[in-house]
Amino acid sequence: MAHHLLAGGGGFIGSHMADAFLARGDQVTVVDNFATGRPANVAHLRDHPGFALVEHDVTTPLPESVTSGRYDTVLDLASPASPVDFATMPLEILAVGSTGTRNLLDLAVAQGARFFLASTSEVYGDPLVHPQPESYLGNVSCIGPRSCYDEAKRFSEALTMAYHRWHGLEVRIVRIFNTYGERIRPDDGRVVNTFVLQALRGEPITLHGDGAQTRSFCHVSDEVRGLIAVLDGPITGPVNVGNPGEFTMRELAEVVIELTGSSSEIVTVPLPAEREGDPLQRQPDIRLIATTHGWEPTVGLREGLTRMIDHFRHHEQI
Ligand code: NAD
Repeated sequence: MAHHLLAGGGGFIGSHMADAFLARGDQVTVVDNFATGRPANVAHLRDHPGFALVEHDVTTPLPESVTSGRYDTVLDLASPASPVDFATMPLEILAVGSTGTRNLLDLAVAQGARFFLASTSEVYGDPLVHPQPESYLGNVSCIGPRSCYDEAKRFSEALTMAYHRWHGLEVRIVRIFNTYGERIRPDDGRVVNTFVLQALRGEPITLHGDGAQTRSFCHVSDEVRGLIAVLDGPITGPVNVGNPGEFTMRELAEVVIELTGSSSEIVTVPLPAEREGDPLQRQPDIRLIATTHGWEPTVGLREGLTRMIDHFRHHEQI
């Protein structure tokens, strides 16, 4: 039975990873300071015999309650990850992507554990190549409003590879593309949840600019299956994990209105200043994970949105 130290396991994607590990009989210790996660995400696991929760900020030295455990894997998902966080928590993001990742890498070295880094498609910045393969080096501003996140993740990747080369640490790096679904924080500014929230409230759905920007969205159940395949698999990475199906923001707004049965209207607004540098298009090239791990997404946008809308209706304060 494997034991996973899951930093950021109180968040959206991390809590689904905890569910998946426990479902296959593994043990999970979550470390989270709930900077952007929510205790409710793991409340259903509290009495599970394979589950433990340590409330702690990973940018500070890890407490004995963490270091005294024996782990087969150390997973680093700890980071604020939404555009509103880039504006309100830039220093925390830079700290967790540097000191936080380093503390977790040191733990993995001390334990001889496999290290797993949740990186992001943001390392490609505003890409000049479509779709983006792992070999694309990116087009990133190191001073723009998103730079705290993009560069923190690029630094985390560099740190992880330095530990791999210098300490011989076994590592896995995944680049996660836009993921949505149950337990995503409704008000964190990411486009899918914002549209769903606006539709459920009957408020206007706000399209930035002309709404022709495209995004690819992966349902969290597919995403977590892909992340665990890479964790268990033989490839150091980086490996893209995302759904290549591409939609314009206007198409997304229309589907959300249809599935919620909302009377909301679609309105266009100028791009807010904090969204300066938002990529106009981003789409994963998933040939690497498809050929090496046989993984591909299976949940279409309509099905995934239906599950998420249902979750919002029953579990969130709308
Ligand atoms: P999230 O905010 O729900 O989860 C991040 C978790 O990390 C939260 O529970 C938060 O409290 C915790 N955390 C933050 N700083 C911490 C610290 N200093 N110490 C301990 N815990 C800390 O976001 P998410 O969407 O679940 O993202 C999880 C990971 O996946 C992040 O690393 C993120 O960068 C990456 N990612 C997510 C997406 C996406 O579309 N959701 C896309 C690309 C990459």
